[in-house]
Amino acid sequence: MKDNGRESKGPRKSFLYYYVMILLITMLLNIFLFPSLLDRTQEVRYDQFEQQLEEGNVEEVYVTTNDEVIFTLRDSQWVNYKTGLVPGVNLYEELKAAGVEAYAAETPTQASPLLEFFLTWILPLIFFVGVGQLLSRTMMKRMGGPNAMTFGKSNAKIYAESETGITFADVAGQEEAKDALKEIVDFLHNPNRYAEIGATLPKGALLVGPPGTGKTLLARAVAGEAHVPFFSISGSEFVEMFVGMGAAKVRDLFKQAAEKAPCIVFIDEIDTIGKKRDGAGGIGGNDEREQTLNQLLTEMDGFDSRKGVVILAATNRPESLDKALLRPGRFDRRIPVELPDLKGREAILRVHARKVLMDETVDFNTIARATSGASGAELANIVNEAALRAVRMGRRTVCQSDLEESVETVIAGYQRKDAGVSKNEKKIVSYHEIGHALVAALQSHSAPVHKITIVPRTSGALGYTMQVESDQRFLMSRDEAFNKIVTLTGGRAAEELIFHSVTTGASNDIEQATKIARAMVTRYGMSEQFGMVALETVNNAYLGGDASLACSEETAARVDEEVVAMVKEAYQKAKQILSGHEEKLHELAAYLLDKETITGEEFMEILNREGAREA
Ligand code: ADP
Ligand code: MG
Ligand code: ZN
Repeated sequence: MKDNGRESKGPRKSFLYYYVMILLITMLLNIFLFPSLLDRTQEVRYDQFEQQLEEGNVEEVYVTTNDEVIFTLRDSQWVNYKTGLVPGVNLYEELKAAGVEAYAAETPTQASPLLEFFLTWILPLIFFVGVGQLLSRTMMKRMGGPNAMTFGKSNAKIYAESETGITFADVAGQEEAKDALKEIVDFLHNPNRYAEIGATLPKGALLVGPPGTGKTLLARAVAGEAHVPFFSISGSEFVEMFVGMGAAKVRDLFKQAAEKAPCIVFIDEIDTIGKKRDGAGGIGGNDEREQTLNQLLTEMDGFDSRKGVVILAATNRPESLDKALLRPGRFDRRIPVELPDLKGREAILRVHARKVLMDETVDFNTIARATSGASGAELANIVNEAALRAVRMGRRTVCQSDLEESVETVIAGYQRKDAGVSKNEKKIVSYHEIGHALVAALQSHSAPVHKITIVPRTSGALGYTMQVESDQRFLMSRDEAFNKIVTLTGGRAAEELIFHSVTTGASNDIEQATKIARAMVTRYGMSEQFGMVALETVNNAYLGGDASLACSEETAARVDEEVVAMVKEAYQKAKQILSGHEEKLHELAAYLLDKETITGEEFMEILNREGAREA
C-alpha cells in the first residue's frame, strides 16, 4: 500500500528543476569552450598595432590606467585588441597623425564587472551545489526514500517523518488499542500536566498481534495525532554483518530522538533483536544480537520519559521476547492488536473504500461476512484488487461482483482459465464442491454458502466454496465444531458416493479437518476420553499457531486414535447426509458444471424446489 506520509515532490516540480539544471549546464559549457564569448579581447604586438594604425583601420583607441592600449578596428567591431605601451613611443603623436580618436582610462564595451563576477564565481557555485544536491538525492532515493538518514558510523536506515499525516480515523476498528494509545497522545500533547502530578508515563508500549492487523499503522497514527516526529526502524535493520554495529545504531537512534523530543520512536519487528537470550551464544550472529539488545535496554533505562520520547514496538511473536524487555520501566504496556471481527472488517473495508469509487450495488456487510479471519492488510488488498478489476472490465466504478471476485483472488488466488482441466475432472470437482455445500446447508449449525465455483485458481484449487458467517461468533460448541469437520469431509464423501473412487483433491480439506479434530481433543476438552486436560500448548498463536505436545508418548498415541475416530465419524455422517439427498446432489452438480459459478441463492432455490427432506 502506498504510504501517504512519505511521498516526495510532485513530478512537475522536479521537471522544472531538471530543466533549469540543463540550462545552466549549457551556459557554462559555452563559457568554458568559447571564452571569447565572455572576454572578446585579443592581444597583439605593438608593431601590429602600429601597422593597423598606418593602414587607417583603427577606429577607436582607449588607454587604461595600467598603461594598456585597447583598440577596435573598423571592419571587426565585435573584437577588442589589446597591446602594451612601449616606452619611448609617443602614442598620442601617432594617434594624432593617423587621425584616430583617443580616450583615456576607460575600457570599452567589456562585460560589466558585476556580470563577470556572476559568471565566473556565482554560476559555477550554483552549478556545483545543484549537481551535489542532485547526486545526494538520487543516493538517498536508492537508500530507501527521501527521508532515510544515515547517522554516525553505522548506516542504519532510520526513517524520520516530521508528520506522518495518519490519524486514528485511518485505523478502523481496534478500538481498545486506540483507547490505550490515546493516553500516550495526550501525554505528548501536554507532558507538563503529567509532570506536575508526578506521574511518569510508561516508557514504551508493545503492540502485539498477527501480521497485517495494523500495528505499524497504529504507531504512525499516534505520531500523527500528537503532531510529533516519527522515527522508525525495523528490528532486522539492527542485525548487521559487523559486531558492534547494531549497538551503535541503537545509540544513534536514541541520540537523534532525544534531540527531536517530543517524538515517537518505533521499533518494528522487535523480536528480531529482542529474542530470549539463551546464554549459549556460540554462533556469530547471536552475540551481536545480544549486544544490540543490551544496548537497547541500557538506552531505555537511561532515558528520561518526562522529556517526551515514547517508544513503541511491534511484534507478532511476543512469547519469544526476552523477559528483560517486558519488565516495568521498559515495554511494560502490552497492547493487543487482534484480527478484526465482523464489525471491524466492515469498518476497514469502508476506510479503504473512501479512496475508491463504488457504485450502489456494493454491500460491505456481505464482504465482511465472507472474509472471516482476514487481516486488515488482506481487506485493504481486496478493495484494491476490486478496483483493479473494475478498470480491467472498463468500468468507472467498483461493483459488488468486483469485490466478491477479489475476495476469491486474495484468498484462493487468480482464476486460471487455461488450466486445462478435463471435462471428467470438472465433473468430479462439481460433485466435490456441491458435497461440501450440501452437507453444510443440511446441517442447521453450518454457515450458509454464498458462492460456489469450479473455475481453477492459481493457488492450485480446482473449486472453491465461499462461506459467509451469519453473524460474529466468539464461541463454538462441540456440535458446531464437529459439524464443521463433517462439512469439510463432505467433498470427499460426495466423490466416493458417486464415483466410488477418491481423488487427491481433498488434501486441504483433510488437513483442516484434522486440525480442528486435534484441537478439540487436545485443547478444547471436547473428547469424552480425556475431558478437560490440556494435552498441547500453542507456540506462537499469531503465526499459524503450531502446537507442541504436552503429554506422555502413550497419551499422544491415544490422542491420535481419538482424532482418527472423530474424523471417521464425521466422514460417515457426511456420507449419510449425502446419500439421503442423492438426487439433489446430482441436480446441483449438473447445474454447477454447466454454470461454473453459482450463487448461494441459486443453490438454495434448487435445494428447496420440491421440499427437501430435513437431515
Ligand atoms: P502490521 O504492522 O500489523 O503487520 P500494518 O500496519 O503494516 O500491519 O498494516 C498493513 C496495511 O493493512 C496498512 O497499511 C493498512 O492499509 C491495512 N490495515 C491493517 N489494519 C487496518 C485497520 N485496522 N484499518 C485500516 N487499515 C488497516
Ligand atoms: Mg508492521
Ligand atoms: Zn474440498
